[in-house]
Amino acid sequence: MPELIKGMNLSPGVGRGYSILWTPTVVAIPLHLEHRAVERELERFERALEQTKEQLKKLRERIADQVGAEHVLLVDVQLHILEDEQFIRDVIEEIKKNKINAEWALEVLGREYLKRFEAIEDEYIRERSADLFDVIHRLQANLTRSSSFQPHDIHGPIVIVSERLAPSHLLEIQSELDVKGLVLGPVSRTAHVAILARALQLPAVGSIQNIYERFQSGKEVLVDGYEGTIVVEPSPLQIREYESKRKYFAYHIRKFPREAIPVYTQDGFQVQCFANLEFAEEAKRARKLGALGVGLFRSEYLYMQGNGIPDEETHFQAYRKILSSFPNEPVIIRLADLGFDKFLPGEAPIHERNPALGVRGPRLFLRKRNLLYPQMRALLRLGLEGNIQILIPFVSVIEEIIEILEVIQEVQEDFRRKGIPLLENPKIGVMIEIPSMARMIPQLAEYVDFISIGTNDLIQYFFAVERDHDELRYIYHPYHPAFLKLLTQIVQDAHDAHLELHVCGEIASDPPSVIFLVGMGCNTLSMVPQWIPAIRYFVQTLSREECQEILEQVLELHTGKEVEEHILEWIQEHYPEGIFHHVFRTTKRGTA
Ligand code: PEP
Ligand code: MG
Repeated sequence: MPELIKGMNLSPGVGRGYSILWTPTVVAIPLHLEHRAVERELERFERALEQTKEQLKKLRERIADQVGAEHVLLVDVQLHILEDEQFIRDVIEEIKKNKINAEWALEVLGREYLKRFEAIEDEYIRERSADLFDVIHRLQANLTRSSSFQPHDIHGPIVIVSERLAPSHLLEIQSELDVKGLVLGPVSRTAHVAILARALQLPAVGSIQNIYERFQSGKEVLVDGYEGTIVVEPSPLQIREYESKRKYFAYHIRKFPREAIPVYTQDGFQVQCFANLEFAEEAKRARKLGALGVGLFRSEYLYMQGNGIPDEETHFQAYRKILSSFPNEPVIIRLADLGFDKFLPGEAPIHERNPALGVRGPRLFLRKRNLLYPQMRALLRLGLEGNIQILIPFVSVIEEIIEILEVIQEVQEDFRRKGIPLLENPKIGVMIEIPSMARMIPQLAEYVDFISIGTNDLIQYFFAVERDHDELRYIYHPYHPAFLKLLTQIVQDAHDAHLELHVCGEIASDPPSVIFLVGMGCNTLSMVPQWIPAIRYFVQTLSREECQEILEQVLELHTGKEVEEHILEWIQEHYPEGIFHHVFRTTKRGTA
């Protein structure tokens, strides 16, 4: 009898294979040591530490080759844990104090860490605990000499079913077996394993409760990462339906053209698609996917890679790498938006009662200028080689912009004094992420050249709801008429002030939101590179006039749900083949 199970769509696609229930396989047993055996145990731990580092370094190389250099960060975080002095001290202490074997010391510490992580309310940070447990598990596996994964004699396509699957395990299993899909426990879309599944183009469904009770190994399973559903033991008819769905999407996705040129709606409204990047290495692929420029480079990732505060040369080389793919196109580098959930490795986050409202972005780098100067110097030097533009994140008051403009002048004067060639008039933009700035657009035109609406944060601060809060997702609603009114007003004010306007939040790649944005008159959308071909294609099927009409209608509605229903109905009516309806369902927000 087929069984349909509903979860949350984590990664789009349709996959089919035989289920394999996966759990970490190491069993740690407590052993009490004689006093003289303690020294030997510490050496054993040292060896396992080195061996684990070696394995991770090899895995890092494999990821860079097979998945892309932008994903090595997953492994870097784990390597960082292995080098963390506090972590190593804790294990050594535990072995010495209780005279126990290293496997058990790790087990005890793991349980202690788990309690601490469970007490953390921030979902994003809680998710990061997976890296720590992966490291502990690897160390234990090396100590007991058991391999963390043994493929035995499994053949054919498989679907991994796991409560907690670490990214490195996914890569390991994937290099041995033909993985067609993932079924996971309580995993959010921001979890590393979900990000990796999307990069590997593996359909994945999460949020499955009591996963080991509901699944068994060896059953045929269909994973629908578009809808967020799983079918166990599907009927022949369901298999045929899923197979045609898979072919249908593959066909449609291939047919999206990829030239880097602007596109036009049916009635001639021009839209340009730019790329949002986290790593300079992504630039080449973004160009191939048709990006007309880089609308947002999240430079804080340069600071988070475990090599300390990046110096001027590190910034310079990273931005130059982007310019090699976009030599004449706009390349917008955002000043480091550190703080809140992104901090420097090795540096304890500033203790704040509410970090989302605390020392973040300019509030941080204007206090700690050593974070800002090298970046600014690199930008002003490199600005001579291409169309580099500077974007200021998380601005809440104009005073912050004035201070940053003063820093720019200060660096310029220093360069002039030293005879270093520099960019005299950098193009400067401000992110509109805090509602206070949304009310200052006419004034902003006196200070900057463009604005970029960061809707991910703007929604968070507008509705006073955390952007990753799973249970409050119904309030974080990009289609809510209140939010659409705010956006409409920002766009109108920017047009009146002749201020260039971009949208770089996730809504720029969400088809229903694109309808609203085109209706408002936004013509520069910046998004995750792989969405560019689909969004370009979608824009060409729209009419600006009709988008304006739809916008006017939804602005009269009262709730986000009403707007969602209205726009879904319109999409279903106009795209009966369903592709854009499904594209919509697989965007970050999703509806499953
Ligand atoms: C945003 O807030 O919309 C944005 C693009 O910035 P980030 O997602 O990096 O906070
Ligand atoms: Mg933001």
